[in-house]
Amino acid sequence: MSLIDQMSMATPDLKLRRRVLDRITEATPVDCFKCGKCTSGCTALKLLELKPHEIVNLVKLGFIEELASSDIIWTCVTCLKCTERCPQKATPYHVITALRNLAVEKEAKVPDKYMKALSNILETGLIQNVQKIALTETEIYDRKSLGLPEIPKIGLKLSENLFKALEEGQK
Ligand code: SF4
Ligand code: SF4
Repeated sequence: MSLIDQMSMATPDLKLRRRVLDRITEATPVDCFKCGKCTSGCTALKLLELKPHEIVNLVKLGFIEELASSDIIWTCVTCLKCTERCPQKATPYHVITALRNLAVEKEAKVPDKYMKALSNILETGLIQNVQKIALTETEIYDRKSLGLPEIPKIGLKLSENLFKALEEGQK
């Protein structure tokens, strides 16, 4: 069932709404006046089942549970364009991040690709492994053949700090 179908049968949860809004200290989603500037610049718009300003407004209305358990919150690429463009500091990015945190707390399923990116960051400091590029089937280049320097390995200290931050975030 699509998220939009689920929404038509859902009832708002004002307690959960308060909990999510209270956590967003850097933005004020309640001030969204639906200008659509966030949506018109969103990098992930084609992949999102709902537009960014619609997500903000569903949170304002209290449809938290449905959003937190849907894949839509994991589709945002956290580019922060909506934060830059929003005239109201309402910013979908912060709303989506708060919904992700709630989803993790509720042990909702986090997409495998997202977990893989997270473990890559913790292990290497990079969101994904360094890849080769193929111009044609036979013309394949790696960093060395392109004259690029090797990517430095993540320092132990940084790795430790990332794990520490992750643990503190779970408290
Ligand atoms: S979140 Fe900001 S940019 Fe997006 S519709 Fe609301 S006020 Fe406009
Ligand atoms: S942070 Fe997410 S919602 Fe905001 S513009 Fe980027 S992809 Fe869209």
